[in-house]
Amino acid sequence: MATTLQSQTTSSEASGSAIGAAIGADMLMVFTVILGLIAMAAIANVVIVRRQTRSSARIARQRAESMSELLRTVRTAETIAGIGIWQYDPSTGTQQWSDGLKRVFGIDSDEVFVEGDAETLLFANNIDLVGKVDEHCDEVDPFHLQFDVHGFDGVPQSISVHACNLRGRNGDLHRVVAVVRDNTKQIERVRALETSRAAAINEARYARELAETDALTGLANRRRVMRQLDRLVMNARMTQMPLVLVMFDIDHFKRVNDTHGHPSGDKVLQRVAALANGQARGSDIVGRVGGEEFVWVIPGASDGMARIMTERLRVVIASDSGVEPVSAVTISLGYTFIQAGDTALSLFARADAALYAAKNSGRNRVRMAA
Ligand code: GH3
Ligand code: MG
Ligand code: MG
Repeated sequence: MATTLQSQTTSSEASGSAIGAAIGADMLMVFTVILGLIAMAAIANVVIVRRQTRSSARIARQRAESMSELLRTVRTAETIAGIGIWQYDPSTGTQQWSDGLKRVFGIDSDEVFVEGDAETLLFANNIDLVGKVDEHCDEVDPFHLQFDVHGFDGVPQSISVHACNLRGRNGDLHRVVAVVRDNTKQIERVRALETSRAAAINEARYARELAETDALTGLANRRRVMRQLDRLVMNARMTQMPLVLVMFDIDHFKRVNDTHGHPSGDKVLQRVAALANGQARGSDIVGRVGGEEFVWVIPGASDGMARIMTERLRVVIASDSGVEPVSAVTISLGYTFIQAGDTALSLFARADAALYAAKNSGRNRVRMAA
């Protein structure tokens, strides 16, 4: 029994120590588990930190890669567009010249480039780029500068600068970024285009002048007279100002040709044209509208003025000494004033009828249209 007891005791001791052992084992297990958990957490942490470190490194690498991609893109864009980028930090006074910008100024981007070189180039050309940019430091919108330089190779260049002020949240100027371009070829092309355009306009004007000028007398021909008369008729209608159309014709001109020959007749035509032109005011038009028929358009002439002016022309021609060997010729004149509803053609018709009346009443005289 005792034994049993003992044994019990023993067993109880044994069981006590077993419990202890069991508790110890449990605790050990708990510790082990806790330790295991801590270890796992630590490992996990390490893994996470490592992962984080790895992913940060990857992000940093990716960023660096996309940054260099971006730079390549910017450089390619600079090359394609033939531009350069200039940056200026007003707080430090530092400037940055991109490779493209160096190319704009004819500097090989592989060459060792000293910033002073740029300054030298600009100063040599009396250009204070920083000073010019500073003048625009209050600008909110992009601004434009244009200047001419002689590059390092001595070739003249027209430089265009489109710049923009970059500001912080408080409005302070952080940086000036500028896109610089060599506009020399463009300007040359524009100038060449303008020159050829001006030449084409001149040629067209000259061709029109020729097409509307009487070759023998240099007076306006029928085409120009009609075009300008249309305009003057419209103008007179709007302003209610008078407009006089005079038609005159050399008397017995056929005889001149028949007696002295055609070349002499031509000289008489030229002489009459010059004398008539000499009587005209700046706003008048004198033209040759037929073989020996002329017109004289007098804008703004009153009744009295028209009478005096036409009579004076008649006398001037008749009293001229003539062109050797032709003695003085005479002219007959008919004139009319613009009336309501008139056109250039209706004016012509009335003036022509008055001229016909002057011829019929003996020539070398003036008649006003009825
Ligand atoms: P009228 O007094 O009725 O006007 O008689 P006219 O002889 O002047 O008129 P007519 O119409 O009979 O003759 C006009 C002449 O003008 C005929 C033509 O040979 C001449 N003529 C026309 N054009 C020119 C020209 O360009 N040069 C010369 N020399 N003569 C010309
Ligand atoms: Mg005649
Ligand atoms: Mg005639």
